[in-house]
Amino acid sequence: MSTLIRGAQVLTLDPRRPVIPNGAVLVDDDRIVAVDTLESLRKSPGIEHELGSDDTWVLPGFVNAHYHRDRVFSMGSVDAPLELWLLRASGLDSPAPELQDEFDYLHTLVSAIQLVRSGVTTTMDMAWPIDHRPVIKAYLDLGIDLIYAPALRSQYGYVYESDEKFLATLPPDLQQRIAGQGLGLTGIYNPAVPYFETWSKLNAEFGKRIQLVIAPDGPEWCSEAELRQAAKRAAADGACLHLHNTESPLERQWGLQTRTQTPTGYLGEIGFLGSNVSCGHGVWYSEQDVELLVARGVVTVHNPTSNLRLGNGIAPVSAYIDAGMTVALGSDGQGLTERANFLDELRLAAYLQRIPSAVFPARDPWTRGLSAHTVFEMATVNGAKAFRRDGIGRLQPGYRADMILMNAKRMATPYLWPGHDPYAAVLQKAEPNHIDMVISRGKVLLDGGRIVTVDEERLTKRLQSLYEDIWKKQDGKRRALVKELEPHLFKFFKPWQEQPTCYSTPARW
Ligand SMILES: [Zn+2]
Repeated sequence: MSTLIRGAQVLTLDPRRPVIPNGAVLVDDDRIVAVDTLESLRKSPGIEHELGSDDTWVLPGFVNAHYHRDRVFSMGSVDAPLELWLLRASGLDSPAPELQDEFDYLHTLVSAIQLVRSGVTTTMDMAWPIDHRPVIKAYLDLGIDLIYAPALRSQYGYVYESDEKFLATLPPDLQQRIAGQGLGLTGIYNPAVPYFETWSKLNAEFGKRIQLVIAPDGPEWCSEAELRQAAKRAAADGACLHLHNTESPLERQWGLQTRTQTPTGYLGEIGFLGSNVSCGHGVWYSEQDVELLVARGVVTVHNPTSNLRLGNGIAPVSAYIDAGMTVALGSDGQGLTERANFLDELRLAAYLQRIPSAVFPARDPWTRGLSAHTVFEMATVNGAKAFRRDGIGRLQPGYRADMILMNAKRMATPYLWPGHDPYAAVLQKAEPNHIDMVISRGKVLLDGGRIVTVDEERLTKRLQSLYEDIWKKQDGKRRALVKELEPHLFKFFKPWQEQPTCYSTPARW
């Protein structure tokens, strides 16, 4: 049974034929079997359905290559630089234990629905839930393609120092009151011993339907032995590795202060870096880091909104790409991108590389910055490369049927210059409400602006009622405790911040 999907423009991301006017995509089950002009494909035998119209533009679905669904709860409530944000986010209250599974399920669904609404058909999720099953179930029910990365984390819950040493700097009374409260990151430790056992179980249970990734949270949040073990396990199981790397200036400083080298240099030295590795953020790489990552075939996932929101700055990704690095795109924590719109990430990624200091020191300033086509590659095929996923991110025969059907008439209102480049037009103008349909693995997830696989309205209402219940019961004690801890966090980082290396501009700007 075949379906023909047609469009006034088909944006294929296929380098040999990037745009097909009056084109069509022929789909059989979950695979693309042909991409050509409508005229030629209409003659194909066995077409049962036809989707699209003269007002449709067809695009590959987006791959969100660095994402956490678990911060919807903190949307609008926490806003600070990374290290303080992590502490403050832990001051938020949680649901009652008996509601935790339902909460995780709903949370994941409502969060992932926003991704689908902005054209994401594959998402990774680096996650720290108590139980992974309700989270995975939510993605499976929605039908989005999932790259799941349970996080490995065992240390440095408050600052980039052992918890014992940090706690010893606190007044004894405060030490006692925060003990066992799960503040900072201490509440979500998942060290190697239970981690790899859980990972293997999840892989055995879900490995045929989702991709499982081994994900040390970041070089500072795991021991060296755990990082080595993760790399070894990934090699043995043929799995990909993903981690946060050099997101903030203070993370870079952690490497310089405690490892006498950058975090990337340290990861290289302990044998962690290889072509199965992708790093979230990578804002503060040194020149040598960039060379090392390129040499080892490591992919960096750019998170432009989060990087600005958390005070980490602008990653010079056009320079990374010039150096030969593969750069993908991600939206990071849902609580950091309140608009939850992946199209915003594409636009911001493009615009941030046009700042004068990025453009004018270059040998050929007029070609600097990212072209619309390059940004689309970041949002599609490069995301696939980050997790070694052949066969997604393009509209090409043999590729999977992951597609966005854009309503070009709505997008072109009130005007669209007739000589436009279609990639640039979508980059500059598209909004989620211009998307008519989203198809993942040949299955329609969104049709006419409505999610068709789950009851969005009912599930959202139920999640809202759970939130209201949490807010009603919260007494502000956790937040107050966090407030008391904040000056001690500032005191720890102050000498690091005073180092001339701390806020010096990242490489290649
Ligand atoms: Zn992240």
